[in-house]
Amino acid sequence: MTAESMDELVALAKRRGFLYQASELYGGLQGIYDYGPLGVELKNNLKAAWWRSMVYERDDVEGLDCSILTNPKVLRYSGHEDTFTDPLQDCRACKSRWRADHIEDGRCPNCGSDDLTEPRPFNLMFRTAVGPIDDGSSFAYLRPETAQSIFTNFRNVLDSTSRKPPFGIAQIGKAFRNEITPRNFIFRVREFEQMELEFFVEAGTDEEWHERWVQERMAWWTQQGVSPAHLSLYHHPAEDLSHYSKATVDIMYRFPHGVEELEGIANRSDFDLGSHTRNQDDLDIHAKVMPNPDSSVRLAVHDQQAKRWSVPWVIEPSAGVDRGVLAVLNEGYRVEQLDNGGQRTVLALKAHLAPIKAAVIPLKRNHEGLVARARAIKAELQRLGLGRILFENTGNIGKAYRRHDEVGTPMCITIDFRTIEEDDTVTIRDRDSMAQERVSVAELGDRLRGMLAASDSASTMTAADDGA
Ligand code: ATP
Repeated sequence: MTAESMDELVALAKRRGFLYQASELYGGLQGIYDYGPLGVELKNNLKAAWWRSMVYERDDVEGLDCSILTNPKVLRYSGHEDTFTDPLQDCRACKSRWRADHIEDGRCPNCGSDDLTEPRPFNLMFRTAVGPIDDGSSFAYLRPETAQSIFTNFRNVLDSTSRKPPFGIAQIGKAFRNEITPRNFIFRVREFEQMELEFFVEAGTDEEWHERWVQERMAWWTQQGVSPAHLSLYHHPAEDLSHYSKATVDIMYRFPHGVEELEGIANRSDFDLGSHTRNQDDLDIHAKVMPNPDSSVRLAVHDQQAKRWSVPWVIEPSAGVDRGVLAVLNEGYRVEQLDNGGQRTVLALKAHLAPIKAAVIPLKRNHEGLVARARAIKAELQRLGLGRILFENTGNIGKAYRRHDEVGTPMCITIDFRTIEEDDTVTIRDRDSMAQERVSVAELGDRLRGMLAASDSASTMTAADDGA
């Protein structure tokens, strides 16, 4: 089960503190959102799961964290200044603006008029003045993708790590696009985060690696709790490919508003490293790149035996963090009818993504002995470093369970008089089955660890030298 409409998710997100409209008290800012107390945990957990599977569980990937402000030359040679555009059409009747490929039947989606301007390219990059004099001569772009800084640091990473292809560089961070029509909650926004891997391979092995990464990424999303039935692949037709791409496959997800892209996996050929390279003349570059007199380095690897330089090819799995958050929220969301005639809302998130791993609740509010024991248990579990453990002194256990069902807390731990007066056992209650069980406090750490390990079981990812 998933949400029946985006409205259900938007309402839950606001009510429980996952997401808020940014600058809301001044009327908001279109296509910009803030993550609330639970949203930041969910988002961090999703990013951590990606980082774990991309960097820690593999032996062929390094990480980077680069700046957002970007020298315009980077985005000139990458092709973004010329081609990172969407076709824009204005409605002459109601003055609204649309992305031409989002218009159906040649009519304005707002007022129905067919009096539209011809489509014209609109560059999606944001720019900002750098330094105290704003005369237009000194500006930087806010990066439209994290990828470029991985390419421009390629030589630095090679020199500081002794890597050689096949290997990858991963980055998670903000990207900015001045989308013509941001919409569908956090699906299409102007400020968002990407999780990108640039995986460098030898020319000729690119198609095999591309296929492999598509499979790896499908497997990862299902590991995050996304049902395979809601995922599909879309192969871009040749005429729609981006300027750098030899082939692109999108992982599509059935969002509440329709089936749309969750992640794109592109074969970027040798375009980017080739473009940012000085002295391209003696290099065998497949992509059409313009001469680059501005770069100071050669983004290529030297083959000692063959005594020649070659530019690696790049496979890029690029996923949107915010679209991922939306997908896992949607996947987890369900409204269940209960035997007693009531109903409950459950966010059945995988435990490793849940904003709160366990809530520790004293049976009676403000009871000194119960509260002290609960606080001590909370502190002890928190020290295990498994994520956020919440101490909750509200007293109404039934209500606390419902609230934690709704925000996806997989385990509630109730401290009662038996805990403090008899045998140091507690009740743990499972979010999904609602089953309750008596366990000793000494066992709690292992229970939590076991729950999280089962949720985020070791990925299927393998090292580069394993077969490819
Ligand atoms: P779309 O066709 O939906 O505009 P795109 O093909 O331009 O997306 P890519 O350039 O492939 O997107 O970016 C990689 C990923 O970054 C996307 O799969 C998506 O998850 C995310 N992303 C891109 N644009 C946005 C946006 N405006 N808001 C949120 N996430 C985005």
